[in-house]
Amino acid sequence: MTYPHAGAARPYLFNDRTVEGYRRAMAAGTERVADRIRRADRPFSGVSPERLAPEIAAIDLERPLHDHAAALDELERVYLRDAVYFHHPRYLAHLNCPVVIPALLGEAVLSAVNSSLDTWDQSAGGTLIERRLIEWTAGRIGFGPAADGVFTSGGTQSNLHALLLAREEAHAIAGAVPSRLRVITSEAGHFSVRKAANLLGLGPDAVVTVETDADRRMRPAALARELDRCRRAGLVVMAVVATAGTTDFGSIDPLPEIADLCKKSTGVGEAAGVWLHVDAAYGCGLLVSRRRRHLLDGIERADSVTVDFHKSFFQPVSSSAVLVRDGAVLRHAAHHADYLNPRRMAERGIPNQVDKSLQTTRRFDALKLWLTLRVMGPDAVGELFDEVVDRAAQAYALVAADPRFEVVAKSPLSTLVFRYLPPEGPGRKLADDANLYAREALAASGDAVVAGTTVDGRHYLKFTLLNPETTLDDVAHVLDLLAGHAQRYVDDLAPLADHPEVTHVHS
Ligand SMILES: *Cc1c(COP(=O)(O)O)cnc(C)c1O
Repeated sequence: MTYPHAGAARPYLFNDRTVEGYRRAMAAGTERVADRIRRADRPFSGVSPERLAPEIAAIDLERPLHDHAAALDELERVYLRDAVYFHHPRYLAHLNCPVVIPALLGEAVLSAVNSSLDTWDQSAGGTLIERRLIEWTAGRIGFGPAADGVFTSGGTQSNLHALLLAREEAHAIAGAVPSRLRVITSEAGHFSVRKAANLLGLGPDAVVTVETDADRRMRPAALARELDRCRRAGLVVMAVVATAGTTDFGSIDPLPEIADLCKKSTGVGEAAGVWLHVDAAYGCGLLVSRRRRHLLDGIERADSVTVDFHKSFFQPVSSSAVLVRDGAVLRHAAHHADYLNPRRMAERGIPNQVDKSLQTTRRFDALKLWLTLRVMGPDAVGELFDEVVDRAAQAYALVAADPRFEVVAKSPLSTLVFRYLPPEGPGRKLADDANLYAREALAASGDAVVAGTTVDGRHYLKFTLLNPETTLDDVAHVLDLLAGHAQRYVDDLAPLADHPEVTHVHS
């Protein structure tokens, strides 16, 4: 391989001599995205992986374009044209939010400066800003001055981190062997709890789920029974994971009752009580709500809390944090490396966040939240979240009154789980596949994107409302589209529905 012009790569290095090129490239990129956003009339193009894959496969990575504009033109084709746009009011699927502009500014700044928050000598002020935001979040939770925490890549990592600390505490106190450790969560808890248990080397039976009530909240009586059963079986309950905002239903487990049970239970050792982790990946937006903060009452009694700013604080991915009531427990994640954080630094009080994190090199994601708070303030963020919660309540009323649909439960947050119910007759038994089909057909059209889930073994559709720009008219329009797709499926197949083999063509 030959390099025709030695030194040709130097203009791409970001430094004092290339700031003009940086400015132009950033402006061109910003303009390109702005143009896309301005013109996007649907949340998705409906492209299939089969159609897009060859475009990406055809790019010759050995032959660079030597030009930002040309690369952006190409990017239009391989990415921007067919990306899924969460800012669009008819994106109603997952827990992805539209993002606020101060956070986008933060993203641009943090990647250009490229601080790494593992050690003070790779970030300086970034470390202190992150610490202030942890302190601020802990204050909103209602933790005392001993609280601490760290930013993470997402709720999955935050949950893993919290459960690692709980496991180490259980081990330190009770010396419990991993196979005897149990984690109790509700049947609506997030799958990352199970994943964390696996990664932590707990046994396959480590995660025990207890039943929920009709509103999909953990039943305290069921938790009490399970705590008791574990104690009698000689098992050590290492943590109870309560969810403040379940992914499907937005339900919030009864935190005060659960905290009482955890406190009262012997769990680890004799007097310690059981570690309570609150997974508020979704519900954390309530921390800044002026109208609904009370829904999180009891969260201040947790030992650890997961928050996902990239879900209900309108922050770009990634931005999450794990917080603990007693900062001293974070030592369980600390390791000393001679090259990174020698003891001398600790003795001199140099703040090295790597001592608290599972990661080493780590993005300065906190800057996005910092600029958001400094430009907009917490009330404004809470207002945006309150608006989507209001909208979800209106959407619930709309669907509940619509005979074409049945709805599962009213969410205290912003989801809606429902299904199209074909009219009485032979089409009824096609309901499952009709809903599955409607979701796929809608996504393929690109007109809107909705999610799906299973309730009691049946297929349901799900809206997750996180965009204050989504109107009730948008919701009504998407419902009509879904009903249209589902009924078309039924009309095509109902005449054949007596033949059992055709009822599951889409499963
Ligand atoms: C989304 C979610 C998670 C996982 O968070 P990520 O940021 O996607 O890793 C965990 N718990 C709950 C309740 C969630 O909704």
